[in-house]
Amino acid sequence: MRYGIALFVIYLLILTSGMARGSTIEYEITEYDINVRVPETYDSFEIEASLQIENSMPDSEHTLEIMLCRNFRGAKATNLHIYDETSKPLDFSFEDDLVSISLSDASMGSSVVVLQYDLVKDEDFHDQFSPFAFEISDTLCHVNASITRTDNWYPKIAETMAKRLAPYQLVVDVPEKFEVMASGELIDVAAVGGQKVYTWRNYQGITDRSLYFFAQEQERIVREYDDDFRVIMYVPDGTIPTNMDYLADVIHTSFRFFEEMYGEAPWNEYKVMAFPYGYSGLFNSMNAPVTLFTSEITNNEIYFPIRSVIHEVSHTWWGNIVSSNPDENYWLYEGFGKFSEIIGIKPALGVDVESLSFFRLKLCTLPYIDYVPSILESQDSEDRVLVNVAAYYMGATYLRMLRFVIGDKNFYKGILEYVRQCRGMCISTDDFLTIMQKRCNKKYHGMLSDYIKNPGYARYEIDRLGTIYNGKHYLHNYEIINIGDKDIYTPYLVQSDMESYKEYLFLKKGEKFLVRVKSGFREPADHIVVDPEELFPVCGAGLKGPGAIVYENPSREVKVYNVAADAPFARAGIVDDMTLIKLNGEELAGNDLRTLNHMMLQPGGTELQLLVRAGDGEPHEVTVVY
Ligand SMILES: [Zn+2]
Repeated sequence: MRYGIALFVIYLLILTSGMARGSTIEYEITEYDINVRVPETYDSFEIEASLQIENSMPDSEHTLEIMLCRNFRGAKATNLHIYDETSKPLDFSFEDDLVSISLSDASMGSSVVVLQYDLVKDEDFHDQFSPFAFEISDTLCHVNASITRTDNWYPKIAETMAKRLAPYQLVVDVPEKFEVMASGELIDVAAVGGQKVYTWRNYQGITDRSLYFFAQEQERIVREYDDDFRVIMYVPDGTIPTNMDYLADVIHTSFRFFEEMYGEAPWNEYKVMAFPYGYSGLFNSMNAPVTLFTSEITNNEIYFPIRSVIHEVSHTWWGNIVSSNPDENYWLYEGFGKFSEIIGIKPALGVDVESLSFFRLKLCTLPYIDYVPSILESQDSEDRVLVNVAAYYMGATYLRMLRFVIGDKNFYKGILEYVRQCRGMCISTDDFLTIMQKRCNKKYHGMLSDYIKNPGYARYEIDRLGTIYNGKHYLHNYEIINIGDKDIYTPYLVQSDMESYKEYLFLKKGEKFLVRVKSGFREPADHIVVDPEELFPVCGAGLKGPGAIVYENPSREVKVYNVAADAPFARAGIVDDMTLIKLNGEELAGNDLRTLNHMMLQPGGTELQLLVRAGDGEPHEVTVVY
């Protein structure tokens, strides 16, 4: 055992020696040893966190400031005691999630500080995400780490929220009926007096962004593959064996595919646990809804729900191998996750729904195009719908456009380079941009950042310049004008009775492009269609969205969902799940998804009369003002 500890220490030294130390940071945690005990009373997690601390300016400061449970809505720390390595109590104050510790022997370069506390449910602060983040009961005990608010259930030095973790050991000590899935690699399981003690450490060479553990009464099942990969599954009673095979295979193939595209992961396993609150993508593991294990899986035409599993696997790279502060760069997690989910479907499932999926993303973005924040500022929106549209949909659409503009080969080389350079780091959007800009022609550099930093899509206008007759046929002259704040790169279709072709257009901000269309008819028509497949982040001038998505359900009712606040539908009193019956007197049922959502895109100033019904109530008319 001693030998094991010595090896662990050597390994920590190797791991930490390469870490950059900022000169302004006085204190740094260089090693975590965290013990969590779940008592059979299930009233608190009893935590002892031992921190190895380096003081890079030993004489300047005598107060160590540590954050504990900052911004964690749903749980709080109580009963805090702090000791040094000789178990001598240290003086401290604990206010507003900030622990200030007086270190009398501050001249020491390195020291150990031990915090003992109970993590309990915070009855005063609860929201819809609280049970997803934290729960303690006799059936489920967990702290999730897929959202930043939970990152601080263990101590962090003040102002280092977005930093990567130091190497760690995480011991989770639970009543013996539980299986535990936690951060990193399982090192040991020991039975001690009616409890089971699980010891986890970070995978070799790379630490996590945040720590998590989940304990449930489940069975641990391991699927091994010929290439030495294994999928470790924590499954509930009633799991269907073929579901397990399917899930393990999808995880295995998508993991290997992402390794090929994004770079190798330094381990050969992946963990998945059935979880009553749905999906979370963690470092080398995920939670997935219980129904994915216990009910027959029926995928829709774009392969939901199974594609969400592919998405979560990709978070091993997006947010973990390459990490960033999600309060500033949420799209680096979710835009990349959404993009990966789509490109992973074919290798993982053997079906090609890539274009259909990207088409859907654009279709589901246009309704919000006037209100969404920029991709970069997605996380700042108060409205969860807009956060998702900007970070996931627009982020993925942007990556697809970038891939198209610079070519597949160049794009994936750039992504590989991005992962290689940023592996194990906490980076920003500009780091990504710098690496990708190196892979493309200078004329696209501005465009690369404009689509991330400016809100909405690129905007164009098509002007008719007049028609001339050359003795044989008519020539209709049009101008495509870039009237927005982003350079446009898009295909456009020219179609008339005499010609039909598709071209690509690169149009800088403010520039115009002349298109001459031959026709046997004098009257102008819709001769030019920009982005005919509806895949690129462009849209026509002046178009406004309703701020909601409409679709026809299997009972042929047209329903509304994802209603954004302060947009035309919301202002007209339309809420999620209402039924739309008629638009300006015309029945809406029977229209496909595209038609329905295009009907709701209108020029600013337009008024639509909608006949709507809430639940089983009486239908009533509302006026939607764009
Ligand atoms: Zn995600």
